[in-house]
Amino acid sequence: MADTYDILIIGGGPGGYVAAIRAAQLGFKTAVVEREHLGGICLNWGCIPTKALLRSAEIFHYAEHGANYGLKIEKPSFDMEAVVKRSRGVSAQLNGGVAYLMKKNKIDVIWGQAKIAKAAKGAPVEVSVGKSAKPAVEPQNPVPKGVLGEGTYKAKHVIVATGARPRVLPGIEPDGDRIWTYFEAMKPKAMPKSLIVMGSGAIGIEFASFYRTMGADVTVIELLPQILPVEDAEVAKLARKQFEKQGMKIMTDAKVAKVEKGSDGVTVTVETKGGKSETLKAERLISAVGVQGNIEGLGLEEAGVTIERGVVKTDGLGRTNVSGIYAIGDVAGPPMLAHKAEHEGTICVEAIKGLDAHPMKSTQIPGCTYCQPQIASVGLTEAKAKEAGREVKVGRFSFTGNGKAIALGEPDGMVKTVFDAKTGELLGAHMVGAEVTELIQGFVVAMGLETTEEELFHTVFPHPTLSEMMHESALDAFGRVIHM
Ligand SMILES: Cc1cc2nc3c(=O)[nH]c(=O)nc-3n(C[C@H](O)[C@H](O)[C@H](O)COP(=O)(O)OP(=O)(O)OC[C@H]3O[C@@H](n4cnc5c(N)ncnc54)[C@H](O)[C@@H]3O)c2cc1C
Repeated sequence: MADTYDILIIGGGPGGYVAAIRAAQLGFKTAVVEREHLGGICLNWGCIPTKALLRSAEIFHYAEHGANYGLKIEKPSFDMEAVVKRSRGVSAQLNGGVAYLMKKNKIDVIWGQAKIAKAAKGAPVEVSVGKSAKPAVEPQNPVPKGVLGEGTYKAKHVIVATGARPRVLPGIEPDGDRIWTYFEAMKPKAMPKSLIVMGSGAIGIEFASFYRTMGADVTVIELLPQILPVEDAEVAKLARKQFEKQGMKIMTDAKVAKVEKGSDGVTVTVETKGGKSETLKAERLISAVGVQGNIEGLGLEEAGVTIERGVVKTDGLGRTNVSGIYAIGDVAGPPMLAHKAEHEGTICVEAIKGLDAHPMKSTQIPGCTYCQPQIASVGLTEAKAKEAGREVKVGRFSFTGNGKAIALGEPDGMVKTVFDAKTGELLGAHMVGAEVTELIQGFVVAMGLETTEEELFHTVFPHPTLSEMMHESALDAFGRVIHM
């Protein structure tokens, strides 16, 4: 029998490694078991490498439009291998950074596939670690120095932070060649001439935006009536208009019914509203229909842990129904976002310590999509606020009325705010346009402090910045807008 820990975390993604650091700060003897790569999907196949790809696309876009800024740039081109190499390099740098943080915080890293072997009331939980059962897409190389290996470990508290993987639709199974998931889409060997993206959530739209900007013929197919289905309808509509202006084809209320693979591409049968059907051809298809929690093979069912709708059921502080077993991040349910995973990790460990941990308020978790134009939101959409029976006041401010947006050459976009008409409470904020993913945090802080319109009116926003539109949008909701 190897070491006994206070807290052992299965999974070294943003949920797991942040929980581990907080646990170490609070004086717990801590270990993280990871089977593939520190930093999880976020650092290796999600948040970070996509943003690196999108940055290349953004710079390419500006180079193509240099004349708009009075610049003379010969026809720009790109080397896809170098673009991908940069993105992989950014991931590698950050995952090395996580290894450093583990060492600095004296957290043991155990390399292998973990499974809960025994969980009995009043006794430490036993975790067995064996060889990875999953062939790594691109395993961490080199494995960090000084890691522990296979064996059985004991811990008073075990936190499951095993993340998620691509959801697969029957009959449309990814093959790594014609039908891609985010793994293949992240490192294309060459630029596809044409591409169908199935699903228009954040992951689908970010890849659609990247490939379209780099010149591919892109069609997005969405089952629901609007793209970016969780976003405010007005924001999604404005984004769609921009994507279409860039040449993206978008089909909503459309279902991918069949995908046939050939030697030169895919033939996709799409059922549209009213029972019509259309056939599309493309070189590749990206399946971006969501993710599903990694709940299998962990000994959760044997331990009696409740699983609901494919994710581990927790109580808001990461506790499952089995004493000593916790779950955080993607495996504990939506929204499946890195910052939600990190925050849940912190809350979970602080609750174990007996600190005054507050369950996360799901309406205060921001969501960002880093396409061009960017999308960012927090809180209730106008429709959801009305559905909840709130009487609302809505403010809108267009990028065309903002000096900084004009100076940047980014006049397309909007900041929308939703307030409770009776109390003035800020219920939600929704934005589309340049850099809005950096702006949203202002509204997140405001909502956390239970802001009303009055505090926003009294806040001084620096000039000239895009943030001034946040002020103007709030003013607009109450008939006081200045620059419109
Ligand atoms: C293409 C893409 C783009 C994204 N962009 C964003 C974004 O911009 N912003 C954002 O907030 N979110 C984004 N996400 C989502 C984000 O990546 C996830 O929400 C986040 O990684 C979840 O963190 P986690 O710690 O719960 O799980 P993960 O990051 O999935 O980490 C889980 C870890 O557990 C390990 N593991 C699993 N099972 C075992 C086992 N049995 N034993 C040992 N180890 C195990 C895995 O190898 C993995 O390293 C994106 C996702 C994708 C796919």
